[in-house]
Amino acid sequence: MRFDTVIIGGGLSALVCGIELARNGKRVAVVAKGHSSLHFSSGSFGLYNAEHPLKAIAELAPTHPYSKIGVERVEALAAKATEILNVAGVSTNGTIEANHYIMTPTGALRPCWLSLEGTVTAASDKSLDFKSAAILYPEGFLDFYTQFVSDELQGLGVNTSLHSFALPELSIRRNNPTEMRSVAVARALDKEENILALANIISHKTGDAEVVIMPSVLGFVKSDVQSRLEKISGKRILTVPTLPPSVEGIKVERALRTTFERMGGVIFNGQTVVSYAKEENVVATVTTDKYVTLTAEEFVLSAGSFIGGGLESDRNSIVEPVFGVDVAAPQGEFTTRDIFEPQPFMSAGVVTDNSFKALCGGTPIDNLYACGAILSGFNGVKEGCGAGVAMVTALEVAENILNK
Ligand SMILES: Cc1cc2nc3c(=O)[nH]c(=O)nc-3n(C[C@H](O)[C@H](O)[C@H](O)COP(=O)(O)OP(=O)(O)OC[C@H]3O[C@@H](n4cnc5c(N)ncnc54)[C@H](O)[C@@H]3O)c2cc1C
Repeated sequence: MRFDTVIIGGGLSALVCGIELARNGKRVAVVAKGHSSLHFSSGSFGLYNAEHPLKAIAELAPTHPYSKIGVERVEALAAKATEILNVAGVSTNGTIEANHYIMTPTGALRPCWLSLEGTVTAASDKSLDFKSAAILYPEGFLDFYTQFVSDELQGLGVNTSLHSFALPELSIRRNNPTEMRSVAVARALDKEENILALANIISHKTGDAEVVIMPSVLGFVKSDVQSRLEKISGKRILTVPTLPPSVEGIKVERALRTTFERMGGVIFNGQTVVSYAKEENVVATVTTDKYVTLTAEEFVLSAGSFIGGGLESDRNSIVEPVFGVDVAAPQGEFTTRDIFEPQPFMSAGVVTDNSFKALCGGTPIDNLYACGAILSGFNGVKEGCGAGVAMVTALEVAENILNK
């Protein structure tokens, strides 16, 4: 099968790159082995952990992916990423000029570039825009630390009350504790009878608190569960991300996939690219584990970091398993003993030139680009820039391909 561009990976970077290429008329295929990091992330997007991200980005080392793009283009591409999320129906709050704060599953406030509408956010880490909150959670729910959230809110001057709720369907699920996870609860809350029952509970159980705070389990396929609950109960409802798996992250991935396919993109789902053929310095084809061979003018490697299988390691080396392209690995130990410190292996990744062509033996491959978490030169956890690097580098690669 022949395409203009074949993208290896099905995560945030692959889908954003694919959407940009497809909406500019390219015939694009995405090959996705499995779930992406979005299934574990909170669904919020970080550009860089600093009060003013762009100022901090201007000071980064030349090997950082943002430095290869330049601060002005990072700003333009970040705006384009926001627009693509919007096109996909993912409504976000936030600006590139200054980070705001989002509440994490343990209740702490963390800097963030874009947060999903309807989540608990704040302009600073010192105060919230409400003074009282009723925290409402399903009985027996495993992925949400209500007491942590309550303690953090109280530390920010918010009066809190805790309320659990039960619904017949959830009570049956509680017989098997592994069923009380975020995705299963969200699926149950897609059902009309459960929405109406929950709205009734919210109206009668949460007193006169200014807001009702719930874990992010409001609707799995339906997008309007939260707004409907607000409308029926007359209460302002906000959500806090749960521990993985992340309902919000899964919804973002689904929205991007649907948009990519609507724009004519093709997804080879559940397939792993296992080999390739090269002619001189150009990749000619890739082949999947299901023996599907794809031919294209351009190839994009966005297979993620260790978590997605884009990088593999043993105790001594880190490799990129499909093409065997150059990987920058830490010089010394891959880990430090303090697990709360940034781990050196997290900055490992594929080496590229400034146009994000992957290097092999120090030479760029003419038509193989890399973007997203597979890149070297940044630490997404320490710098809070995982989603930002994924989307900005994906759009830079798309633009380099379109300008070829
Ligand atoms: C727990 C967690 C929480 C996070 N929270 C945040 C956050 O709050 N804010 C933020 O900004 N960032 C966060 N991130 C980081 C951010 O989610 C990622 O940096 C970003 O989603 C990476 O996208 P990606 O497309 O580059 O890689 P991935 O999402 O890892 O996608 C890689 C894809 O490639 C596929 N693949 C791999 N090898 C092959 C192959 N050979 N053939 C075919 N397919 C292949 C994988 O199956 C996967 O679908 C978080 C990450 C994690 C893990």
